[in-house]
Amino acid sequence: MSKSMDTICVHGKEHAVKDQNYAISYPIYQTASFSHLTPGHNPNGFGYTRESNPTRGLLEETVSALEGACDTVAFASGMAAVAAVFEYFKPRDHVICGEDLYGGVVRLAAVISAKNNIEVEYVDTSDLQALKAAVRENTKAIYFETPTNPMMHVTDIRAAAEIAKEAGALLIVDNTFMTPYFQNPLSLGADVVIHSGTKYLSGHNDTICGFLCSKDQKLAQHFRLISKTTGGTLAPFESWLCLRGLKTLALRMERHQSNALAAAEWLKKQDCVENVEIALIFSNYFKNIVDIPEKMCYKI
Ligand SMILES: *Cc1c(COP(=O)(O)O)cnc(C)c1O
Repeated sequence: MSKSMDTICVHGKEHAVKDQNYAISYPIYQTASFSHLTPGHNPNGFGYTRESNPTRGLLEETVSALEGACDTVAFASGMAAVAAVFEYFKPRDHVICGEDLYGGVVRLAAVISAKNNIEVEYVDTSDLQALKAAVRENTKAIYFETPTNPMMHVTDIRAAAEIAKEAGALLIVDNTFMTPYFQNPLSLGADVVIHSGTKYLSGHNDTICGFLCSKDQKLAQHFRLISKTTGGTLAPFESWLCLRGLKTLALRMERHQSNALAAAEWLKKQDCVENVEIALIFSNYFKNIVDIPEKMCYKI
């Protein structure tokens, strides 16, 4: 029987049998390197923590299970994950970015990608005609957040995936705000999902982390190569903090949703408020019985 998302959040990928001593809270492997039993022979495949570490590994498997990803790489911050995505591009590649993006991403594009001759063009991706019209021969990726930080603009992932496919470009979606609890971009046709795990995934304001979730092995291997080479990988203790935070993801997201609805309903009743718009986020219950509509923005 496949595990529910709530169960994966609480128990991680493997239900409490992953540790050799059956510890339920997975141990923090606070070690830089691992013993070679004989030269070149690490029985469990771990050699050096920049490359791989059991605590980070369990977190990566858990995020993969939540996002339905082939593989996930954990980074020391959301921006380290975004930077690894931009490492994918070569000079003269054209990248279409949503016009409302996390400020750090705009700075990365302006300061680093521009220097590397990567052409970043900002488009309102919620306007599918505009998105289609922006595609060029050298378009390598379409990249957006939905909903966006900070303006909460919503893009139809499924329709954008079709445009990306036709263009032979990657569709990269930053799913930080929805989290896998409310939205799985890979199941809607995205190739790569980015997270700033600093926000809802960790959820306790006590750690900075980021993730790249890949649709297939080829992309995953590329991101693993970039992460172990440039070295922005997530430390064991931070990995453990995020695993602990994830245990309550389902509960926190449901409460965020009901609090936001209550605030919207209250605002609607105020005479001085002209219009209330909310991004209606479906609870997991609805998610299982109805197809999520393309546009999730409703007037209430
Ligand atoms: C915060 C944020 C980032 C950057 O993540 P850090 O963990 O702060 O480096 C990227 N995208 C979105 C949508 C964010 O909110």
